[in-house]
This record gives sequence, C-alpha cells and structure tokens, in this order.
Amino acid sequence: MQRDAFSFAGDTHPGRKYAHNEDNIGWAPEHGLFLVADGMGGHASGEVASQIVKDTLLRAALTMPLTDALLEAHRAVVAAAAESPNQRSMGSTAVIVRIDDARCDIGWVGDSRVYLLRRGRLRLLTRDHSYIELLLEKGELSEADARTHPDRNLVTQTLGIADPTPSHTEVTLRGGDRLLLCSDGLNDELDDAQITTQLRSNTIPNAQVAALIEAALASGGRDNVSAVVIEYTDRRPLRQRLRSMPINAAWLPAFFGGGAAIVLFLIWYGLFNN
Ligand code: CA
Repeated sequence: MQRDAFSFAGDTHPGRKYAHNEDNIGWAPEHGLFLVADGMGGHASGEVASQIVKDTLLRAALTMPLTDALLEAHRAVVAAAAESPNQRSMGSTAVIVRIDDARCDIGWVGDSRVYLLRRGRLRLLTRDHSYIELLLEKGELSEADARTHPDRNLVTQTLGIADPTPSHTEVTLRGGDRLLLCSDGLNDELDDAQITTQLRSNTIPNAQVAALIEAALASGGRDNVSAVVIEYTDRRPLRQRLRSMPINAAWLPAFFGGGAAIVLFLIWYGLFNN
C-alpha cells in the first residue's frame, strides 16, 4: 500500500438525548482500515458489544476478507453475551472499509453507512439491512416517507444476534474522493444535501467531522453520532494511475508524443525549406 495516500479524522458524540455513547469508531491507518460500530442492548451493554466488534474487526481484518472478519466479530459478541446474563441481548452494527492503493473494500452488517463524495456529488455506497430498506426495494415506500417512518431504526441484521449475513461492495478511488463512514445518528438527522454541504464547505477531514457532528446535534442529536472522514490522494506512479483510468489512457502519452513530433517536423520543414 502507498504510504500517506489519505488523510482522515473521526469523532463520536453521545448526542443530546443519551448520557451513554454506544457507538465505537476505530482505525488502523497503516493497514488502510477504518470502521464504525453502533451497539445496542440494555444495561449499557451496547457499548460493550460495539467495543468487542471494533477490537475483533481490527484484528481479524488483517488476515481475512471483510465479510469473514464481520462473522468473526459476530461470534465474539455471541460468546461474550453467553458469559454474562446482563448482556444477553447485546448486538452491534458495523461498517468497515479497507483502502489498498486505489481499491476500497467495504463490508457491513446493519444500518451504519459509507458515503462517497466525488466531484461534489454524494453517493451512498452501502444499503442498510433494515426494515425500511426492504420496503424501499419493494417500492412500498418513498424516500421522503422513509425519513419519517416510525420503524426507520429497525435493523434486520445485527452482529451478535441471530444469523447475520454481511454484505460487501468495492469501489475504485480517485484522487480527491472523500469517504464518510457514519452511524444512523448522523444520517437520521442530516439528509444528503446537508451531508454534502458539510463535506464540501470544509477542506480537511478534521473540520468536516466536527461540522457534521455539530450539524447533527443542531438538528436534534436524538441518538449517538459518529463520523469518520477519509480523503484519498492518488499518489501512485503516473503509469499505474493511467492504467486504472476508465478510458484506455495509456495511449495518451503516445498520442501527445506523436502530435508533438509532427509539430516539430513542420517547424523544421518551414525553417529549412523557405
Ligand atoms: Ca444508533
């Protein structure tokens, strides 16, 4: 992996309604790993679950695919819950990304999300494991109604509970791309336009994270809020970058080189044949 190919920042806040913060954020930048986990369960066990998920993921993702690492985290939460009667019902969502050169792998369980801001436009890269997402897929609900639906926080898959099936996607990053990992406490308070505004109007990840969390709190802060922002800089050698461009840009140097040779020939021809 190319060193210093990205800058990043992350923060988490309990919000205005809860004293506890059951979210956890984490990273291992030397391995290109970043994650958000959103815990749930009574007796403050949500924060125990998301901490177990974070610790397990940062270890397991070093040697296995992200979906396998998520299943490892699931088993770790189940094992811990079996040992403590107070933590029987604990669970956690998780979203984790791995950046390796321009390749970005994403794995998740639950409704924690990854957004991509590219050339000023925001795109959601993950699809929630939630009741609302099922209704949206069936066409039984509009995006606008989803934001106010009473069951919008109902997740259909959780690490530590039942039998989750992690999802996976990948994206090839381009220089200037910004990734946002967040818990639902952020995207429940801020719509796409507000997230875009906060990401665009601040230049460094530290300021973007602070602005996003502040905006979520100003909008209500009804849940724990977490945000991790990663800005990717393409530092690969030019030859490698051209090879991964969508058009066959490897021909561009030959094209421009050929053009320059013709111009030089015409100048020479003009100079010596008058
Ligand atoms: Ca939450």
